[in-house]
Amino acid sequence: MGYVLDGQSFDGLLSQLSKEYLIYAPVRISGKGAYSDTDLVAYGQISSLDEIEYNEKSRFSPKELIYPITQTLFYFTEDEYKEPAVSQKSIIIFCRPCDVHAFRRLDEIFLKNGDFRDSYYEAIRRKTVFFILECAGSFENCFCVSMGTNRVEGYAALLRPGEGQVTCDVDEHFAPLFARYGKPAGMTPRFIEENSISVILPEEIDKNIFDHQMWQEYSSRCTACGRCTVSCPTCSCFTMQDIFYEDNPRCGERRRVWASCMVDGFTELAGGHGFRKDNGSRMRFKVMHKIYDFRKRFGYDMCVGCGRCDDVCPEYISFSGCVNKVSSLAGEVKKDD
Ligand code: SF4
Ligand code: SF4
Repeated sequence: MGYVLDGQSFDGLLSQLSKEYLIYAPVRISGKGAYSDTDLVAYGQISSLDEIEYNEKSRFSPKELIYPITQTLFYFTEDEYKEPAVSQKSIIIFCRPCDVHAFRRLDEIFLKNGDFRDSYYEAIRRKTVFFILECAGSFENCFCVSMGTNRVEGYAALLRPGEGQVTCDVDEHFAPLFARYGKPAGMTPRFIEENSISVILPEEIDKNIFDHQMWQEYSSRCTACGRCTVSCPTCSCFTMQDIFYEDNPRCGERRRVWASCMVDGFTELAGGHGFRKDNGSRMRFKVMHKIYDFRKRFGYDMCVGCGRCDDVCPEYISFSGCVNKVSSLAGEVKKDD
C-alpha cells in the first residue's frame, strides 16, 4: 500500500513509532570523518526526517545495531554471573537493499551455523524490522547488481525520500499507521538495475588459485589496517576480552569485540605460530571466504556488493577488482594443471 507523507507528518509518525521502537538510520556526524574537516555517515538514532542522510552511502553498515562492536556477554563475581538486560523496545532500521541481504548472511552465521544459535544476536535480531531506503542511483564502488542484492522483497516499508516529503510502500502491519499520517499515493518500488562496476564471479575455483602469485601484490600494498572488515556488513569475526574491575579484581565482565582477519595476530597461537603471516595471505583468506567458503556452506555468496571495503581502503585496494582477477585467472590456472 502506497502513501505520501510531508516532513511534519513523517516526524509525527516517527514519534508514534518511537513509543514501541528504537529507530535508527544513517545520519551525518559533523567533523568525524576519516580526514580533517570531513563528516562521517554512520548509523544513529533518529526522531525526524531531516536527520536521515539519504544522499550518501553510510561508511559503516547497520550491522553494529544488532551485533555491536563491543558487547558485554555477562558480568561475573567470584561465584555467579549475570547477563545484561536487553532493551524491551523493538528496533526499526532504515537501510539499503544490500544491507538487508547482509543481515541474511549474518543470520546464517549466527543462527544457522551448525546446531548453535547465538542468543545475544538472536535477542536483538528477532525484534528488528527493516524499513528500506530506496537507492536513487548507484553509489561509487557498488556492485549489488552483480551480487543479486539490488532488489528486496517482503519488506515492512520501502521509502523514497523527496523534497520535503516521503513516498512509501508499506506492508499490512504498518499500513494503518501510515494511513493515519499520510495520504494514499501510487508507489511502485524502483531498484538499481545497473552499477558502473560489474563483478564476474568465478564459476569454479581451482585450488591452485590459493597459491597463485597474484596475492603477493597485496602483501606489499595492504597495510593490515582492518578498515575493510570493520566497514563490511557481512564480516562477523570476534574475539573475547575479560575485563577485571580495579576496585575488586574478582569481579568483571566478559565482552566480545569485533576482530579482523586482515589484522596481524588474528590467527596467532600459543608459541607465536600464525597461519597467515603476510598481508597477501590475509587478503586471499578474506576474498575467498566471501566468494568461495561461504558459498560451499550456504549455497550463495557472502559479499553483497556494497563496495564499502573499497570506499574505506587507504591503499585503494579494490575488492571487486580482486574478485574479477580471481575469475579471469580461474580458467588459466586450470589450463596450467
Ligand atoms: S566484501 Fe566489500 S563489497 Fe562485499 S559486502 Fe563486504 S564491504 Fe561490501
Ligand atoms: S582496508 Fe585496505 S589496507 Fe586496510 S586491511 Fe583492508 S585491504 Fe588492507
